[in-house]
Amino acid sequence: MPGEPLCVEEEFMPGPGTYLDDKGVVRAAIIGEPVFDMASRRVSVKPLVRKSALPKQGDAVVGIVAAVKEDVAIVKVIGFDIYAPFKNPITGLLHISQISDQRLETIYDAVKLGDLIRARVVNSYVPLLLSTKEPRMGVILAHCSRCGAVLAKRDGTLICSACGNVETRKISIDYMVTARRGSKKS
Ligand SMILES: [Zn+2]
Repeated sequence: MPGEPLCVEEEFMPGPGTYLDDKGVVRAAIIGEPVFDMASRRVSVKPLVRKSALPKQGDAVVGIVAAVKEDVAIVKVIGFDIYAPFKNPITGLLHISQISDQRLETIYDAVKLGDLIRARVVNSYVPLLLSTKEPRMGVILAHCSRCGAVLAKRDGTLICSACGNVETRKISIDYMVTARRGSKKS
């Protein structure tokens, strides 16, 4: 809590989210969790962000594809990013027309069950309507549908480093795993 004493200056230096009072006591400046860094001998307060607010139009979110049915993927929206998950996932819908600027023969060429995606929210109510047309949006992590290993991005497609399977997705430019140069199908 703001004003709460954390330590004295001799023990830990004041870091972000703290302040030093005139008696040499380091106190919390914000609501949050104190973090004592032994290596740098610095104390900081990690802010307690309450992002329970519902995503609204224009927000970027991440989610996991929970089902794919004909022209729609049902997405379990888990947070604004993977490091700050919501308390409870929110249902999102990604329609085939909102996936890419390129025409898709089938939705299965773009997203598959279990894919981790980043998407733009285009409405402000539940179910969230999602779009992945922007370059940063789309699949950011996927697994091989043959063997389950993580797929790596190579050129415009995804390749399985374990079995060599090549798959297509609407890949975000932020896809998390890149294939090593020279890696090839086995
Ligand atoms: Zn595989």
